[in-house]
This record gives sequence, structure tokens and C-alpha cells, in this order.
Amino acid sequence: MEKHPFLRELDAIHEVCLRYEDEETRAIAASLVPTETLKARVAAKDPSPDVAKDLLLVELIQWFKDEFFSWHDQPLCETCKVQTHHQGLTPPSREEMRYLAERVESYFCAKCRKSYRFPRYNCPRKLMETRVGRCGEWANVFTLFCLALDFDARYIYDVTDHVWTEVWSEAQGRWLHCDACEAEIDKPLMYEVGWGKKLKYILAFSSCETADVTWRYVTDFEKTMKLRTAIDETDLIHYQEVRTRRYQEKLSKEEKDKIARRRVMELTEFLTPPKYNAQDKSYGGRVSGDLDWRLARNETSEKTVISNKNPDVKELQLTYVSSKDEYTLRENGREISRTTGWTRMLETCINVSRKVEKDWKMAYLARSPNTEYGLFRYQFKVTKPCRSIEIYLKTDVFENGKAVVNVIADGTTICVRNNELTGSLDNSKDIVVACEMTGGKGDCAWQHAQAFRQALDDDATVLKIILRF
Ligand SMILES: [Zn+2]
Repeated sequence: MEKHPFLRELDAIHEVCLRYEDEETRAIAASLVPTETLKARVAAKDPSPDVAKDLLLVELIQWFKDEFFSWHDQPLCETCKVQTHHQGLTPPSREEMRYLAERVESYFCAKCRKSYRFPRYNCPRKLMETRVGRCGEWANVFTLFCLALDFDARYIYDVTDHVWTEVWSEAQGRWLHCDACEAEIDKPLMYEVGWGKKLKYILAFSSCETADVTWRYVTDFEKTMKLRTAIDETDLIHYQEVRTRRYQEKLSKEEKDKIARRRVMELTEFLTPPKYNAQDKSYGGRVSGDLDWRLARNETSEKTVISNKNPDVKELQLTYVSSKDEYTLRENGREISRTTGWTRMLETCINVSRKVEKDWKMAYLARSPNTEYGLFRYQFKVTKPCRSIEIYLKTDVFENGKAVVNVIADGTTICVRNNELTGSLDNSKDIVVACEMTGGKGDCAWQHAQAFRQALDDDATVLKIILRF
């Protein structure tokens, strides 16, 4: 009988994981990781021994993203130094096939007509040399590095086109979600809640098991079940059983028992849907109670705090232009920095995305689709007591959408009505400006509360925060 195409797809994914079993490959991986440096960083936090291993994972993922692997964008032409154009796929060469590149992306330079190839290698050894790619390549090598550092790791395949890693935490007795591209650990709901993905099947692969782990990543089991139409559920279970049994033939009884015990713990975890707390930036669902671990996590999350550079500051001003997606920071009227990227000055951002409508020629911030609550905040920590504040934060609402702007000065909340506020402050040094977006109707509810809506050919200021000292 012909094998179900869905299962053939899973077989192909598993081929990648088998390459991790090669001892030479693991040895190369281990030699590339600056393990001693990472361990020293962990030791500096003085953690308890069982938590140290989890903290090493935090250091590993950060190092991997910051220093080892790069994201593949459209390449620049070597001669003309201009952006090349994507031309679609081209067949792999023999050499490229040797390193398991089934697809090769092709780019060309419009100026000199030179063409460039980007083979999507699947061979982890080759990828340790190229060190570039998108989520497939990132997860592939990161999973290998985890294994090389003696973590129990699995390669996670989401059929809606994403891959990542899971690592077993001895300290917490559960599998931790790890997304190397984002350097995120233990944020399993980031895809569904954060990115608005409609997840269906998520499977874990290792050299000793194939396991359906969808239920760690979705909040509504019933809704997810309805989306699972690719294959009969019994066939999928059977597939996991057969494969797992086959991989485990080479294992000792102790090893088999260990894996079985973990699986039971995991299935128990799956009995209740993970809870999503709108206030929790982590999308963590079940967050561990371990304080060391949580502290470590906070340290790795990006968090911009705006402060004054000049001790003689009399006025600090932050402005944003939506059409250019650009912030400007000024002290005493003089520009001190310009920053592109709307998230770059934020202290907190939950379920908010920037949307550019090409047809309407508009740019704005709104909730990510399929979310009910969105929040972004700016935080100022200044060395001089602040006497007054002036704010303009443009919001637009449609239907029953709501956008609420508040200032929190040393813990006291001041409501900003009609997008504008000029008021005195009680010598505050810690000032937060927050915008919350809720409400809206129908499928486009997320769009019904917007911040910074602006035409793309307009360069007026849509955000202005002035602190006076
Ligand atoms: Zn060129």
C-alpha cells in the first residue's frame, strides 16, 4: 500500500535528525561552541546546580543567535552592492545535493545581471560551515548543538511551516520550547497567540521517538482538532508507535523506561490546555515557579529603557514617524539619536504588530490578528526629577475598538484623554507611557483599534513625549 503523503513528509523530517547521531558531526558541533565561556556566564549568576543546566541553555541560544548563525536575506550583489531580486527556485547541482539541498533559491542583480544561488542545505555539517539560513537551517544546527552539549533535544516540526527545538529540563521535569531564530525559551504560545498562527500538527523528532506535541502550543483543543484533517488520528498514532518502537530497539531497558516516563509526564501536561494570560509577555502558559530560572529569562528578553545621557538635561523628547518607522530622541532640542524599527524603543510589547497597507498607502500599529488584547509601553528612567510631561499619541478607532493611553509616573496612573496630555509631575524619575488596544468587531476586530495611523507620504509626528526637568 502506498504510504500516506503526510507520513512521507514526516519521514523526510526524521532523516535530518538521524544525522545528529553521527559522532564526528557531534564532535565538530561541540568544538564550535565556546562552552567554557558560556558556563562562566552561568556561574556568575551563582545558580543552584540543577538550574545551572537550564541557564546554560539560555546562554547557548543567545550566543547562537548573536554570534554564530545569521539570517538569510536577499543577498547584495558583490560587484554592484545593490539588493538582488528573488527569481524563484532552481534545481540543485550534484555538489549541492551531496549536502541535502533539495531546493535552491535563485537571485539576480538587475544592474549587472549576475545571478546568485542560495542552496537550502539540510546537512547539519555543511550548515556549521555556511552558518546562514532561515528557520529550517537555524533549528537544524541549534538542535545539534544542544545534543552536542549533552542536552536531550528534539527537532520540532510544525506543518504550517516552522521548525524549532525542544530541550528536556531535568530541573523542571518537562520539555522546554526553544526557538533559536528568536532566541526565545519557554514561550510555547508565541506562535498561536503572538504570531496568530493556526496550528494543526506539531511533531517532535529525535533518534529515539516521534511524538505529537501539538497540545503544548495551542490553547483551544477543540478548535485545533477541527483543523486536523490531513490524516486519520488513529493512523497518526500508529505511525508514532511504530517509529518509536523501531528507534528504541537499540536502547537499554533503563533508557526505554526513561523515555516512557517522560512521555507519560508530557501526556499528563497535555490533559489541560495551556493558559494564556494577556498580561504575561512570555506566552509561557505554564511558567515554572523556579525563581532563578525566571530571573534568567527576564534578563534575556529585550527591554528598552529610555534615559537621559546629558546630566544637564532640561527637556527630553521622543518622537515617532509611522510612515518612516523611525524614532528620534532629543535632549534640550538637540537630536541625539535616530532609530528605525517601532519595537526598538519599547519596554513591553504584547500582541502588537506594525501593518503597512500597500493599497491604501497607510502604516499603523494594531493588535496581531486573532488576539483580543494588545499593549505597548515606553519606559523612561531619568536621573533628574521630572516636573512635567507633554504627550501626543495618535490613535484611531473603528466600530467598537478601544485604544487607551495612560501615563504611569512613579506608580501613579494618569489617564490621557483624546490622545493629548500636558500635566505636571511630582518629580518623577520612572515614567511609563502605555497604550492598550481592545475591542473591535468581526474578523477584522484587531484592526479596529490602531495607533500611529499615517499615510505613507506623510511625515508628521504621530508620537511625541516630552519630559521637562
Ligand atoms: Zn551586480
